Amino acid sequence: MNDNATWMQRDLASLWHPCTQMKDHETLPVTPIRSGKGVWLEDFEGHRYLDAISSWWVNILGHANERINARIKTQLDTLEHVILSGFTHQPVIELSERLGRLAPEGLGHCFYADNGSSAIEVALKMSYHYWHNQGRPEKRRFLTITNGYHGETLGALSVGDVAIFTDTYRSLLLDVIKVPAPDGFGLPRDQWIDQARAAFAHMEAALERHGDELAAVIVEPLIQCAGGMRMYPPEYLTWLREACDRHNVQLIFDEIAVGFGRTGTMFACEQAGVRPDYLCLSKAITGGYLPLSVVMTTDEIYAAFYDDYSTLRAFLHSHSYTGNPLACAAALATLDILEDDDVIATNRDKSARIEQVTAPLREHPHVGDVRQTGMVVAIEMVKDKATLEPYDFRERRGLRVFQHAMSRGAMLRPLGNVIYWMPPYVITPEEIDFLGEVTREGLEVATGR
Ligand SMILES: *Cc1c(COP(=O)(O)O)cnc(C)c1O
Repeated sequence: MNDNATWMQRDLASLWHPCTQMKDHETLPVTPIRSGKGVWLEDFEGHRYLDAISSWWVNILGHANERINARIKTQLDTLEHVILSGFTHQPVIELSERLGRLAPEGLGHCFYADNGSSAIEVALKMSYHYWHNQGRPEKRRFLTITNGYHGETLGALSVGDVAIFTDTYRSLLLDVIKVPAPDGFGLPRDQWIDQARAAFAHMEAALERHGDELAAVIVEPLIQCAGGMRMYPPEYLTWLREACDRHNVQLIFDEIAVGFGRTGTMFACEQAGVRPDYLCLSKAITGGYLPLSVVMTTDEIYAAFYDDYSTLRAFLHSHSYTGNPLACAAALATLDILEDDDVIATNRDKSARIEQVTAPLREHPHVGDVRQTGMVVAIEMVKDKATLEPYDFRERRGLRVFQHAMSRGAMLRPLGNVIYWMPPYVITPEEIDFLGEVTREGLEVATGR
């Protein structure tokens, strides 16, 4: 049998799914996907679903993209993988050169890993180790903002602040300093900057107080994605860069979710006109095809590790699949398409259409906020529109939106009470309109209004 039910059964008998209470699947089916094309996924019975969340924010140029497929196939027949310590290969060299040209100037050294969390571990360890190599071992702590997300491994989890992921493991985590995040939630866009300025006072105070023991500050630029697509203005990053310099603290930008055009520019930090000391990239880097991540850093940091072997100053971190050639080939094809098709410029019209289609949802009696940055829009459901009091998470309103959307052929997968779209850039205006319809209906189903 090759129907949905058979695959569901076989799945539940043998898998344990990520980020899932498996008991949910007693009543909520897991959806077996047979194939994908463009923004569409198809199950084993021919039902199609619009992938409005880019398959966990990775797919930007569509499923089964012919140009990426072709590049990977060629690479596959040439070299599938080789150790990246003591050896190298063409795709990883070309990718590093290319990223160096695309990223803010001065991030000329690419250190690879194979997933986002590992890139965060690399950046944290590298920063700590940098200060160690500089004879400042007391600079060993990290400072971040509330509601951040940087991945699931213990170091990455330590600098994150989304309670459902971190709380259980608290006693295992590093002692990280957290200050209130800038957050435009519930505010008109022209007031985001005042809110951000008030929040920045806490950051400044923490830098002042802890600067001597801090290795680095880590933030997600412009959008706190897993934290519910909360957004803040680029000025915060400009102030942060200046303050980190003043207090001699390094700066890590986690652009794992927002890099490669998602916020309307190739990298979110471009909007602030600043360069971090470490730029972490993953997710869309391969167009959503294969796991790959990279930490880009400066000459100065690179030089702090560069010495005779016997001094033991080297950064000895590694992962087996670091810089995998197939993944690098997918990344090169992705960068080719972004450039050749002028995708980021083309997205401006799509982003405007998304704004048009979602603006009327502001009027809904249980929508507390509709916010957008580039190709991400979030519609936040609230119990009380006047006070912005949230719905109790146990009511699982988002799940109702998900179920309705699936029945209509759209994969919307809210984060708690936050419905969001983070679609592949190949989405058409008609498909944006369709998502608008499904979202409006989903809101009605979930809120009873
Ligand atoms: C997804 C994500 C990560 C973790 O990446 P994984 O590949 O899932 O380990 C880190 N930071 C941000 C901002 C993310 O969105």
